[in-house]
Amino acid sequence: DKFVEVKNLKKVYNNGHEAIKDVSFSVKKGDLVCLLGPSGCGKTTILNILAGLLSPTSGDILFDGKSVVKTAPKDRHIGYVFQNYSLYPHMSVLQNVMFPLVVGKNKKPKAEAKKIAEKYMKLAQISDLADQRPHNLSGGQQQRVAIARALVGEPKILLMDEPLSNLDARLRLKIREEIRSLVKEVGITTLFVTHDQEEALSIGDKIILFNDGVIQQDDLGQNFYLKP
Ligand code: ADP
Ligand code: ADP
Repeated sequence: DKFVEVKNLKKVYNNGHEAIKDVSFSVKKGDLVCLLGPSGCGKTTILNILAGLLSPTSGDILFDGKSVVKTAPKDRHIGYVFQNYSLYPHMSVLQNVMFPLVVGKNKKPKAEAKKIAEKYMKLAQISDLADQRPHNLSGGQQQRVAIARALVGEPKILLMDEPLSNLDARLRLKIREEIRSLVKEVGITTLFVTHDQEEALSIGDKIILFNDGVIQQDDLGQNFYLKP
């Protein structure tokens, strides 16, 4: 039941900085796993390596038992929600969400792409924003667009990098509940990166505590509290 498996992963950047030092962990199918650790500890580096945006210095990554280190990003079936959302500013919400479906060699006819996009916009509660441009949306709304766009391709795995960090405290609580219900409803395996311990405890099925390029503790469970 190791749906995602990271084995002895290392990443040394070109400037010699060793960001990831021999990291191994696995994620079960359908689980929402939080990777918890302070800023600069290597969390984004791990997500970028999983997504294929960055190659590891050594180590292996398996999806469903198959190594993907040589697989191109578009063939990994990953949905990625970036910290700053990275929406396309010149496109409407609908066009943003449809985008992954209308490019590339497996692109779908417009009408079909629109139908799928509308399904995920409904799940993300942004149906009424279809014609808006990203700059007219609040942080929380942009966040939902990014999530809908990450899900339309029906990826096997969803990666979320500090998706709540740009939201105010009140909205953060609301949206994290919504993210949890959404990923559970879709049933997608999710790796959620955060530096916020309380957030990780509230949203994760499992927490991996990460610091300075190494795993300090795997599966903290819900009884764990860091000392203040
Ligand atoms: P790579 O190993 O991926 O080739 P590079 O050293 O060439 O990495 O840097 C890639 C990008 O990351 C560059 O745009 C660089 O400015 C940026 N970068 C370099 N050092 C850091 C750092 N300490 N933190 C974040 N980004 C960095
Ligand atoms: P986190 O997501 O936990 O904040 P990152 O994975 O972004 O951490 O960065 C881990 C470490 O690697 C940091 O010290 C960062 O400065 C450094 N780093 C990130 N990107 C690069 C790069 N391209 N070149 C050199 N160092 C980098």
